[in-house]
Amino acid sequence: MAAPAMESAAVTALRSVLQRAHQAAERSGRPAERVRVVAVSKTKPVSLVRQVYDAGHRCFGENYVQELVDKAPQLPADIEWHFIGHLQSNKAKSLIAAVPNLEMVESVDDEKIANHLDRAVASIGRKPLKVLVQVNTSGEASKSGVDPSGCVELAKHVKLGCPNLEFSGLMTIGMLDYSSTPENFKALSECRIEVCKALGISEEECELSMGMSADFEQAIEMGSTNVRVGSTIFGAREYPKKAESK
Ligand SMILES: *Cc1c(COP(=O)(O)O)cnc(C)c1O
Repeated sequence: MAAPAMESAAVTALRSVLQRAHQAAERSGRPAERVRVVAVSKTKPVSLVRQVYDAGHRCFGENYVQELVDKAPQLPADIEWHFIGHLQSNKAKSLIAAVPNLEMVESVDDEKIANHLDRAVASIGRKPLKVLVQVNTSGEASKSGVDPSGCVELAKHVKLGCPNLEFSGLMTIGMLDYSSTPENFKALSECRIEVCKALGISEEECELSMGMSADFEQAIEMGSTNVRVGSTIFGAREYPKKAESK
């Protein structure tokens, strides 16, 4: 397909991110299709998401329930949405009910939220929901992410105690300020070794979601199978007090 004369900046940026991700996968000795790029569209308008969709991309991420619940019905049903934000258990049901094409929740960090998601999926009768266990790899006090020492137990709970969820791997953000270091990526890989041993699964059955705009290539080289890239595709985010020109 020939590129239109005036391709949007987001589409140009997407193509560059995909190419860089594929090259990083090859450098790490893995086929490019083993690495997924989640285009993180939080705070960005539906029209911009649509441009990236029209360029052929299907995997998008959001981290606020209300924003995803608002956006998903305005966009095509073959989008695979990833929820990547902190999830309160009282929001699980409305998220599952409003977004039938929710592909994955990457941010399960305690048994209670796993149980709420499991029950919500059962009550709606959809296909099992893929989930990742979010791990706090920075040691910084934070509301999100289970301590590495607790990841095996939580992964076991999802795998054995939540029949409507499909345990799919581990996720980390890194530091509190959303930057990450090679130590964070290494810590998540070490969690994977423990989880695979405890659950009797292969590493291919345990994804690693790590890497964002600033460090996705390095994360891929360190084993990431799922990178979450927002601002490099969609542009810097603004959080205005008042919406000005929407
Ligand atoms: C916003 C967000 C991202 C994307 O961050 P960028 O630096 O803009 O790529 C990735 N992961 C999570 C959990 C996020 O909330």
